[in-house]
Amino acid sequence: MSDTSEQSTPRNVIVIGSGPSGYTAAIYAARAQLEPLVFEGSVTAGGALMTTTEVENFPGFRDGIMGPALMDEMRAQAERFGAELVADDIVEVDLTGDVKVVKTATDTYTARSVILATGSGYRKLGLPKEDELSGRGVSYCATCDGFFFREQHIAVIGGGDSAVEEATFLTRFGSKVSLIHRRDSLRASKIMQERAFADPKLELVWNSEVVSINGTESLESITLRDTVTGETRDLAVTGLFIAIGHEPRSELLKGQVDLDENGYVLVQQPSTATNLPGVFAAGDLVDHHYRQAITAAGTGCAAALDAERYLAMLD
Ligand code: FAD
Repeated sequence: MSDTSEQSTPRNVIVIGSGPSGYTAAIYAARAQLEPLVFEGSVTAGGALMTTTEVENFPGFRDGIMGPALMDEMRAQAERFGAELVADDIVEVDLTGDVKVVKTATDTYTARSVILATGSGYRKLGLPKEDELSGRGVSYCATCDGFFFREQHIAVIGGGDSAVEEATFLTRFGSKVSLIHRRDSLRASKIMQERAFADPKLELVWNSEVVSINGTESLESITLRDTVTGETRDLAVTGLFIAIGHEPRSELLKGQVDLDENGYVLVQQPSTATNLPGVFAAGDLVDHHYRQAITAAGTGCAAALDAERYLAMLD
């Protein structure tokens, strides 16, 4: 299975990543008879949705579907059409030549085209129980999970545009939304702040940081520390949205494909082409705007079609 020497015949397509974008690219490439080789990652095969519970907004599932079950279906669909899946991490790439070289810790593989689909990670607070209660009150995505918190008290952590946007959006659902920020002013744009200040359901909690996330089966409260006085207090909330930023998984690609100032891969929209011929990118690795499973799947499809056309031009 593994191409242990760089001299062996290059594959048509290698896909790096196994979230909705990677598996969708694999399904399309496999159905186009391109026999894709997919690197799923060693720890988080299936991507971000493996860490959540119910997904209610992926079309086709009227009653919703558990995140891991959705990803199992995508994986099986890719395999059904002949995609070859490897549960390993790519640790090094050379994408600059006509033949692309990607390496795991033990093997080297080559391909005529590569689809980058390594996603992005939500920045975490790093507190105990944060992972345990993720999907049980703790969330990183208001669009995904806001609906679950109707008539509940929700806290949002952060002070930038996305935190304020999430908090304002969540007032549609929550009985009350507390926006918690470490400082006494927000970094968010003025217009976003004005909207937030005018919202009667939105309470701003200044000079406060979360020091503990509390609950057994689900989130029950958070403990806040006043950054000026050092005093602590509990705030009873059943929803906690952490909006302190994202990190695209593009470390591997530095010095090869063009990245924006935040590390997201730049593509020649509306295509998924990067600055390197034969190298395409999809999903949250590119998209810092929508960050949804369906949009990631959509660009994964586009990347496979772009790769197919690129290969057809070479033949
Ligand atoms: P990801 O899903 O992040 O997948 C990328 C994967 O690539 C990684 O997990 C890893 O397996 C692999 N990888 C990374 N680096 C390497 C490497 N070097 N080598 C090999 N493999 C590698 N969206 C919705 O639409 N609805 C929801 O309800 C929803 N809920 C969410 C709940 C949570 C808790 C989270 C975290 C996200 C949620 N999202 C939801 C957002 C959605 O999950 C993402 O937008 C989507 O998964 C992005 O897909 P992706 O394929 O770009 O990347």
